[in-house]
Amino acid sequence: MWVCERDGTKVSAGEFCVKCVEYLESRPDASNMSADQKSTEFEYWWGQLKIPFDLMHERLEKLTNRPIYTHELGMRSLDSFLQDCRNW
Ligand SMILES: [Zn+2]
Repeated sequence: MWVCERDGTKVSAGEFCVKCVEYLESRPDASNMSADQKSTEFEYWWGQLKIPFDLMHERLEKLTNRPIYTHELGMRSLDSFLQDCRNW
């Protein structure tokens, strides 16, 4: 059992947060979002894995408008990704 840090949902071990998956599906196209909206959403997906990795990875690429190599997620700081969210 783990607790989602975004919405407090209790989730069984090995599963994903249903509320976060629903939230992801409700998000607008990143090209219609402000820099603040994009960086705020990016922070939601950072750290704790709340949704399947592939879905998170795809969404992070949309929020930053660039390809993100998997290894970058472990090597780069959150701040550097937030800059990417703001610089397009
Ligand atoms: Zn959640």
